[in-house]
Amino acid sequence: MTSSSMLPVYARAPLAFESGEGAWLRTEDGRRFLDFAAGIAVNALGHAHPHLVEALRDQAGKLWHISNLYQNPAGERLARRLCEATFAEVVFFTNSGAEALEAAIKMARKYHAVKGDPDRFRIVTFEGAFHGRTLATIAAGGQPKYLEGFGPKVEGFDQVPFGDDEALKAACGPNTAAILIEPVQGEGGIRPVPPERLRFLRRLCDEHGMLLILDEVQSGVGRTGKLFSHEWAGIAPDIMAVAKGIGGGFPVGACLATRDASSGMKPGTHGSTFGGNPLAMAVGNAVLDVVLADGFLDQVQRTGLLLKQRLAELKDRHPAVIAEVRGEGLMVGLRLHVPNVDLVKAAEQEELLVISAGDNVVRLLPPLIVSDAEIAEAAARLDRACEALEAAMRQPAREAAA
Ligand SMILES: *Cc1c(COP(=O)(O)O)cnc(C)c1O
Repeated sequence: MTSSSMLPVYARAPLAFESGEGAWLRTEDGRRFLDFAAGIAVNALGHAHPHLVEALRDQAGKLWHISNLYQNPAGERLARRLCEATFAEVVFFTNSGAEALEAAIKMARKYHAVKGDPDRFRIVTFEGAFHGRTLATIAAGGQPKYLEGFGPKVEGFDQVPFGDDEALKAACGPNTAAILIEPVQGEGGIRPVPPERLRFLRRLCDEHGMLLILDEVQSGVGRTGKLFSHEWAGIAPDIMAVAKGIGGGFPVGACLATRDASSGMKPGTHGSTFGGNPLAMAVGNAVLDVVLADGFLDQVQRTGLLLKQRLAELKDRHPAVIAEVRGEGLMVGLRLHVPNVDLVKAAEQEELLVISAGDNVVRLLPPLIVSDAEIAEAAARLDRACEALEAAMRQPAREAAA
């Protein structure tokens, strides 16, 4: 691994996958892994979904890229469909989540600037948040480990503890442009914001003329059993960042907004060379064909409940390992008593892929097309992984006694 020519910013597991189908991945040496990581909530429809493969193949034979100097019919179509399915009235396409957040942050600042209030650029964010790795989004996320050594933190982000209403009210001043929050913290450890708190944030924004920006990069596109997770709270944001699942594995991001919230954005105020690329738009439209089909999200909700039931049983069987099961739909976290990376590794031994997250959580983010049988298989593999950890916990005690 030390001979790698790739920048060593990732601690990669010693696994190389060659192909995938649905919720399964195959290694170069022929082992089959059950994929409950889904490329970090990206492969929403699993691997090699026939409808997505066909859409990408078709487009690849026609046109790859045209830039944003010309009309973009497939982008218009995807934007229109996203608007019809959400609160939004306009969409800006990007290639990643961080870029969708950058667009959201700039849009919120510009909104107040064109209204004659350029000092009103501050954005309130929450501890444990993750919004990406650009200079502005690491400032928004506020995590010292991501900020350290990269020069002065981008100005204008005020972070408050997760769930502290008094701190929140105190942080909102005359220069606060917006509140930015993930309805379910993903990297932070699958921490859902209770619906009544999201409604409180909406009211607070309305009272103070602030914009509500939701980061649904991980929680969106059906992940929680609704198209976007804020729908569970019955509220609408002014601006929303989307990525990950919307491309099903092809890099696509989007910043959705109302016309009012986006009213400062004019020709020349923002842009992207690749954003809305025909390949990306073809795949994005194909993802929506499946996710918006009748009954698909009901099925995600049903499978999500099944997964949570299986995990609750595991928690009862392994109380020394699992402390808590939390999350919504197919965005589920296990908070552990043992180091989360130990369970990730033990699951890997059982050929099950899961992901660690903050707050000592292991995340389960299976593709939304996962079957009941695959849920049962994942639970069986996790059960064995927990047993292996328990056996390892008993081992040192026995050695000490001997
Ligand atoms: C992954 C993620 C991002 C960043 O997306 P990138 O595509 O890696 O830039 C931002 N916000 C949330 C909530 C995410 O999960």
